[in-house]
Amino acid sequence: MVILGLRSEKCFSVRAEWYIIMDEQLAKIRSGDLKLYALEKLMPADEAVALRRKYIEEETSADLTPIGKYTIPIDRVVTRNVENMIGCVQIPVGVAGPVVVNGEYAKGEFWLPLATTEGALIASINRGCGAIRKAGGAEVRILRDGMTRAPVFAAKSVAHATEVARWAEDNLLLLKVAAEETTHHGELIGLTTYVVGTNVFVRFEFDTKDAMGMNMATIASEAAAKVIEAETGARMVSTSGNMCCDKKPSAVNVIEGRGKSVVAGVFLSDDLVAAQFKTDARTLAEVNTRKNLVGSARAVSLGFNAHAANVIAAMFLACGQDPAHVVEGSNAITTVDAVPGGVYVSVSLPSLQVGTVGGGTGIATQQACLSMLGVAGGGEIPGDHAKAFGEIVATAVLAGELSLLGALGAQHLAKAHQELGRGGAAGVGQ
Ligand code: NAP
Repeated sequence: MVILGLRSEKCFSVRAEWYIIMDEQLAKIRSGDLKLYALEKLMPADEAVALRRKYIEEETSADLTPIGKYTIPIDRVVTRNVENMIGCVQIPVGVAGPVVVNGEYAKGEFWLPLATTEGALIASINRGCGAIRKAGGAEVRILRDGMTRAPVFAAKSVAHATEVARWAEDNLLLLKVAAEETTHHGELIGLTTYVVGTNVFVRFEFDTKDAMGMNMATIASEAAAKVIEAETGARMVSTSGNMCCDKKPSAVNVIEGRGKSVVAGVFLSDDLVAAQFKTDARTLAEVNTRKNLVGSARAVSLGFNAHAANVIAAMFLACGQDPAHVVEGSNAITTVDAVPGGVYVSVSLPSLQVGTVGGGTGIATQQACLSMLGVAGGGEIPGDHAKAFGEIVATAVLAGELSLLGALGAQHLAKAHQELGRGGAAGVGQ
């Protein structure tokens, strides 16, 4: 059935017919004869979305016209990315850069796409990018790479639990075969076990190549968990036992890592700090120690940084990453070493979850942003695009840290926010 797709020379009669059909369908939704979630099975995606939006407008008395305007093709989106779709919200995308990345996978100049509604954020990152560029670029390295999923098993006793854990550790190869039957790209690269009373957690770690890998790791973990169940008599209670630890602030991700563990650093000369940030090396180091290290310790924060979450959220939204992974991505530590002639500033991100295939990365607008970085889709060597993207995100975080530390050191933060973030209210430059 096609509702909005009707074509006719006589526009008026087409419109009239459209409204009649729409009204009939709306009546069926109201009566419960047509399920709101099932509209795509009966009509093209754009029509289903328009009809559902109309129904929700009636239900809520809200004018939803603005979310009905979008440019992305949604045929795949409604099957892969969202249920009960009624439209799209739009987040402005700005650009910072170019920033120079001297990574092992990302090399050269990059313009960073950043989706945000936080005024002053992109201007701030841009300033940090300028400093990194003038310094010759940021060194970036990936220390480890592995997406984790940790099923939880119920054992009969602590002795049995210990046996189960030991069996899993001794039979990695068997589990690897079962797990890798579920995927062409994914590889089971290790596991760690944790026993708590009769609970056994097996934290599987996968190389998921260019995928962020959460679906891939979950499907593969389930296959491996079934082998453990069959061989040990332990009962698998849940494919995810929260030792993974997905989308929750957790020490395990900070200590053991999850996704990509990335470090980025740059040396800034005294002259560069003065020119770019209107402050000096000693002040940058002091702000970092007292705020990012001591303040975070006193707050018992997992993030020892100034605003890594800001940069990661904006990059993730622009580039189709799972936004909930900002939780883990922002477990970052910023260091500032006062060294002869300047400062060496670094960020360490132990649990950065990124991908260039799967999830939201295939949506046209997000894919366009990944294309700006030259990492859309799978890499020529699988995994290279996701690693390059991880290095670029880490550099963006470094740029954000540099700029905010500089603004705090020069006592400019409130002024910048007033001028940029509150421009609408206070007037830029007033
Ligand atoms: P996915 O789209 O489920 O899987 C990636 C797909 O890309 C696989 O089918 C893989 O095939 C294929 N692929 C093609 N080229 C590839 C390459 N070069 N490298 C890697 N894979 C390649 O994506 P995912 O990253 O596993 O999962 C991301 C989604 O999971 C997001 O939407 C996220 O929101 C969601 N998520 C799920 C859970 C969960 O528990 N299930 C938790 C959090 C988030 P093969 O597998 O055959 O190799």
